[in-house]
Amino acid sequence: MSEIDPVLSARAPQFTSAEAAALAGEHFGLRATGARDLGSERDQTLLLANGEEPVAVLKISNTAEKVATLDMEALVVRHIEKTDPELPVARPFLTSEATDRDDAASYRAKIEVDEGIHWARLYPIMPGGMRSDPAALDDRALIEWGTTVARLAKAMRGFTHPSAHRSIPWDLASVPMIEEMIPDIRRPDMRAAAEQALARYHQTITPAWDSLRKQVVHGDLNIDNALVGESGLITGIIDFGDMTYTALITDLASVVDSLVLERPLDDVFRVARLILDGYQRITPLEAEELLLISDAWAARAAAGLAIPSWRTAQGLGDPEFGERDLLTLYPILQHLIDTGFDKAAHLVSGIGKPVDKQQLMQRREAALGPAMEQLSYDDNPLYIDKARGVWMHDVDGQVLLDAYNNVPCVGHAHPRVTEAIARQSRVVNTHMRYLHPGAIELAERLLETCPDGLDTVLFCNSGTEANDLAWRIASRATGRRGFLCTHFAYHGISEAIAAVSPEVLYHGETPEHVERWRPQDHYRGQYLGTEEFEAALGRAEASGYAPAAVILDGVMQSDGVNVLDPEHVRAIHRRSQEAGALWIADEVQGGHGRTGEHMWSFQRFSITPDFVTLGKPMGNGHPVAALITQRELLHDFGDETVIFSTFGGNPVSAAAALAVLDVLDDERVLPRVVRAGEALRSAVREATADVECVGEVRGIGLANAIEIVTDRASKTPDRATAKALRNAMKRNGVLVGTTAAEVNVLKVRPPLAFTEREVPLFTEVLMTSLRELGKL
Ligand code: PMP
Repeated sequence: MSEIDPVLSARAPQFTSAEAAALAGEHFGLRATGARDLGSERDQTLLLANGEEPVAVLKISNTAEKVATLDMEALVVRHIEKTDPELPVARPFLTSEATDRDDAASYRAKIEVDEGIHWARLYPIMPGGMRSDPAALDDRALIEWGTTVARLAKAMRGFTHPSAHRSIPWDLASVPMIEEMIPDIRRPDMRAAAEQALARYHQTITPAWDSLRKQVVHGDLNIDNALVGESGLITGIIDFGDMTYTALITDLASVVDSLVLERPLDDVFRVARLILDGYQRITPLEAEELLLISDAWAARAAAGLAIPSWRTAQGLGDPEFGERDLLTLYPILQHLIDTGFDKAAHLVSGIGKPVDKQQLMQRREAALGPAMEQLSYDDNPLYIDKARGVWMHDVDGQVLLDAYNNVPCVGHAHPRVTEAIARQSRVVNTHMRYLHPGAIELAERLLETCPDGLDTVLFCNSGTEANDLAWRIASRATGRRGFLCTHFAYHGISEAIAAVSPEVLYHGETPEHVERWRPQDHYRGQYLGTEEFEAALGRAEASGYAPAAVILDGVMQSDGVNVLDPEHVRAIHRRSQEAGALWIADEVQGGHGRTGEHMWSFQRFSITPDFVTLGKPMGNGHPVAALITQRELLHDFGDETVIFSTFGGNPVSAAAALAVLDVLDDERVLPRVVRAGEALRSAVREATADVECVGEVRGIGLANAIEIVTDRASKTPDRATAKALRNAMKRNGVLVGTTAAEVNVLKVRPPLAFTEREVPLFTEVLMTSLRELGKL
């Protein structure tokens, strides 16, 4: 066992109390009358007293100890003094002759004996005391313990020293050393458990080792290496003897391994999670690290069985003492094994394990009931467990190109947004009754994108709420109740807004205060003038519900992605103003650069709406929404009531929404959307030029439609083919939606991260799917 540092197999020094007291006087100028041995594995540690009063702790190294290691311990304390001076780290005394605090030699005194050299170091008495029972630590102490471990590691982050690159058996990097010690574990069940833990280590940690975050860490801030106050909080960090350059998770695993001892087995995972909570207050772990903590813990426990067994076999240490340790360690390691390493990993990390798709479908049905919208794709619904940019990964292993989801506007899991959310939620998340710059800056940034007149922002959490608020203000401001929407619109789920969402009023019963008009359909040459709209206005007046508001989704996602002529919209907007109605531009679909031409789809029409409502893409998936309006409409409203939504504009949501705006700018998303949209439409038009069932390919930016018909001559909507095509494309790896009153229009509305690069794949899958359906 040549790799093992001789310091481990050397015996601890055996100075008498009188000798120790004399040494302290001679080398450190400390007056002590006696000393008590505190017991230590490889050093001699003595509590010096002057009469009854404890005055200092003397540590005498064994003769095999390297000076460089002691110097490293002195220097790290000096380092921490600068990086986190509040940490209760025991700071060694200078020797009598020393003056330079930055010279490591200033902290050690040489004691020459026949067998070699001992070095003596002197430490102050720290507040608190030693605790031998980690199970006595309450939850708060466990969390704080985790925090202190992370703080200490953070304080040591910039520290390095050649001696830290050493092999000590307690470090996970030294598992091969532990393997050699395993035969010394006498009980076969314990031996088998240690073997299993190390086999698991090789399966999961060994392959990841070289990419795990590493630095010099304390390595063993366990109950024996810390002083603890009445409250159970750490008051003194006293031993850096296990310091090495290793993976961060080694440091954490050592603490988990030691603090779960003596706990009931059904409590150990909870304890581990609390320690992790404390740790992650300071240093959030990467998912890969989190999932390895329990395996690292098991490996540490295996080392805990092997090392004392080996020491006993070598005739070192007290065999009875060693055996006692094994008896407390073993049941916990066995419990980890019995739980199953995978399950333990999820129990510790809190990261959910993928569950069976079929089972999940049944649970969904049972828990969420019949009113919940059905899953897309009934043959094999999607269960996406990971997505990036425009790519989605199904648990079955399929990777899909997302040409459907508009919510992750700047791309799934965009790091700017995910980090903004994580960062802000780590700091504070409150509401808008307190000052915070987030929502204010967001409002200012949104207003900068709007034409003059739109000068005020209200925050809420969904497109529905934004529309609901707009409706409430409009009907209050006009004193009217009439509401106009397009024939097959969708604007939300509240009672007021579902009324203008005929797409989901399955029995076609629009309430009596709502009038609908059919939007322009250039493909069929229908409803091109303003007559449809005029007629709806007329019906509203006639029904006794004079129009309070007109609501329009500028990219017509529910009606069929109709491309409206700007002059047409200007004309109906003018007519609506003349009729005394206010205009709600619903930008939940068309906003945030979807058209590529402008930030907001209403800008295509050169109109200034009274209300602009935002939702879906605003937080790239984080729920945040807003209403942009004109201050004059709010005066009366503000006198009567107050608008406050608990989560509306909270700092985390604001951070998400600001990050989206930043990415739209930084990645120059709008011009990219124009290019991607043009490339997509022309590629699909070209590829389907002779395809009878493709009636029209239309759209603006990345709001596109492929109209599916029975034949080009009759232009009869073909719902069945549209559905079959949508399913076939999913099977072949591309997601699209269906829309329009006849549900015959393929909706191609990808995240705005969709670029020209994805166009060939999209077209190829479309053509393959058409071929499979016998449409080519
Ligand atoms: N307006 C439009 C145009 C929408 O498409 C939607 C949602 N599909 C909404 C409003 C409602 O938004 P939310 O689901 O956030 O309430």
